[in-house]
Amino acid sequence: MTISSWKDKALFTPGPLTTGRAVKQAMLRDLGSRDREFIALVADVRRRLVALADADPAVYTAVPMQGSGTFAIESVIGSTIPPDGRLLVLVNGAYGERMVQIARRLSIEVVALRSAENAPVDVDALDAALAQDDAITHVAVVHCETTTGVMNPIDAVGAVVARFGRSLIVDAMSSFGAYPIDLAGWGIDYLISSANKCIEGVPGFAFVLARIATLRAAEGYARSVSLDLLAQYEGLERDGQFRFTPPVHALLAFHQALLELEAEGGVAGRAARYRRNYERTLEGMTALGFHPYVPEPHRSYVITSFYYPDHPNFDFQRFYQLLSERGCVIYPGKLSHADCFRIGHIGRLDVADVENLLCAVRAALKEMEIQLS
Ligand SMILES: *Cc1c(COP(=O)(O)O)cnc(C)c1O
Repeated sequence: MTISSWKDKALFTPGPLTTGRAVKQAMLRDLGSRDREFIALVADVRRRLVALADADPAVYTAVPMQGSGTFAIESVIGSTIPPDGRLLVLVNGAYGERMVQIARRLSIEVVALRSAENAPVDVDALDAALAQDDAITHVAVVHCETTTGVMNPIDAVGAVVARFGRSLIVDAMSSFGAYPIDLAGWGIDYLISSANKCIEGVPGFAFVLARIATLRAAEGYARSVSLDLLAQYEGLERDGQFRFTPPVHALLAFHQALLELEAEGGVAGRAARYRRNYERTLEGMTALGFHPYVPEPHRSYVITSFYYPDHPNFDFQRFYQLLSERGCVIYPGKLSHADCFRIGHIGRLDVADVENLLCAVRAALKEMEIQLS
């Protein structure tokens, strides 16, 4: 099969996501990691990320980290919290839980402030918790909880964290690039995202947008060599190089993906396409008789959770397989309290792909002899 003839299945998932052809083609190269061209590419990627965040390059820096998104989260938690620090994690889904798990594994004191999965995190409870516990040094929260697609109010969380003078860590894995984020205005010290979510690069690395002064003050805190965020930053600042083998091809693809994001109109342009995907999906699925799990005001245009239909013939594995045979990959749910599946709206997809998906869903229901509406 040649590159011009393949047609892969469309990925309506939280990741890995569908990528554009030019992004994949950008990887058909071999570059030395110490070569001037590669060093310039890395510097350009870092500069463009700070610009995409609309941040002041004198205040914020972009630090790429090898691995998937979780590796970069682990690098922030593991290398910026002091030995006597305490982390509070606002949890309303699996990704919040994962940050708690990371802290525990690293023997970092952690407090989990849990709330319902179909609503935003509880900002009043955060206020009370910080008022009560002076030992909490850092607060972590997920922007779009991809478990359900719920959006959390980072501005309100940030205002409380700033009032108490603590540090704020935001997992913006599935939102950065498609939702406006005000790093300085919301008081964010560390924001984490990955190459293969809304920026539409290929998997292989993630990145941290860090407040430079806060990161520099974290000297000596790292609990890992390979995931040492400050050392990674210092290495890149010193000679422009990664400390260990860089994901060269993923960076080439990412550079192309950033150019395409800018050509699409930046965050606003990308948000508009994802919103169209979301709205058409919701309209079509609702017409077919499905119901979304998250109430309207809290829903994102990143991913939507739908309840399993209340019908004896519905079997998720069979549904999944029937859609997959028609070129559409959806995702199982990950909820503790409800049976749901998820349909993603991000990645290189547009409304024509959504129409294909809706046709496939209609055909799958027919084949399973399910009549909902
Ligand atoms: C995708 C995602 C991650 C990271 O997942 P990886 O599989 O490690 O790339 C973390 N948090 C959120 C909210 C995500 O959507």
